[in-house]
Amino acid sequence: MQSALNAPHLINEDAAFAYVEAKLWPHGATCPHCGVVGEASRAKGKTTRMGLWNCRACRKPFTVRMGTIFESSHVPLHVWLQAIYLICSSKKGISTRQIQRTLGGSMKTAWFLMHRIREAMSDGSLKPFGGGGGDVEADETYIGHDGNFSAKGGKNMNAVLSLVDRETGRLRSMVLDNVTSNAVTAAVSENVASDARLLTDSSNVYRRVGAVLAGHEAVNHSVGEYVRKNDPTVHTNTVEGTFSIFKRGMRGIYQHCAAKHLPRYLAEFDFRYSNRARLGIDDKTRADNALAGFVGKRLTYETVSQRRPADEIRIVW
Ligand SMILES: [Zn+2]
Repeated sequence: MQSALNAPHLINEDAAFAYVEAKLWPHGATCPHCGVVGEASRAKGKTTRMGLWNCRACRKPFTVRMGTIFESSHVPLHVWLQAIYLICSSKKGISTRQIQRTLGGSMKTAWFLMHRIREAMSDGSLKPFGGGGGDVEADETYIGHDGNFSAKGGKNMNAVLSLVDRETGRLRSMVLDNVTSNAVTAAVSENVASDARLLTDSSNVYRRVGAVLAGHEAVNHSVGEYVRKNDPTVHTNTVEGTFSIFKRGMRGIYQHCAAKHLPRYLAEFDFRYSNRARLGIDDKTRADNALAGFVGKRLTYETVSQRRPADEIRIVW
């Protein structure tokens, strides 16, 4: 039987380096010191560190781990690739405990790996949704510090606003301090093209931004309207469906999610949803797409790596 986990780059360190180099350096070895591309040669010698290159331009040594969040980690590269594969192929997510049991090592290492991978999954693209007159669904939900969800806010609840671009099938989610007209207007204007049509429920918070977009239709759930009768494209069922995947994952896997880490969990779910099988993306391609996100994501992780909050490892499984 050919297991996906038998791929050479997942079990062999040399193959892992070659794999990551090919993905992150499509135009040749790229020096992280001076930025020159394709002007480096492999360092030779028996005692040489794996994956070491020498830059002919600035004469400094480097590896593909340098300048990425793989840097300053003692975890072998093929173990990183295994972790990426596991996270990318688990539809509802995977617990830190499960990663630790599968890959070995300590809980602390597993926790670091997972948060770094989530960081890489965060959508750096600022391209607005719905460009070219497309439809964008928007809706909000609330997640409590205890992992419970509610359609209404309350004490110790974090508000999450999610947007789905119907055309591309992509999902983008963000944490809001308050679900007010001001906050929603700011978030939607930053992430939705002005020529888009916005699809929401009848909540007042979408009215102001809806009025400045090319179109805005709201279904009225309170009178039992979920799909507009004379225009079945008017509904928010897609974005509501993404909430149910996120909720199942958060309830089942990430029982205790510190509020400050919520954006990273959202990034993970957004990434998997935006790269889902229904869009023709298989597990391997999804893992490759995550790997591509490692480029240039170096400094953003420092706040997390400083210390591990105690509540983060109280995982129930
Ligand atoms: Zn250089």
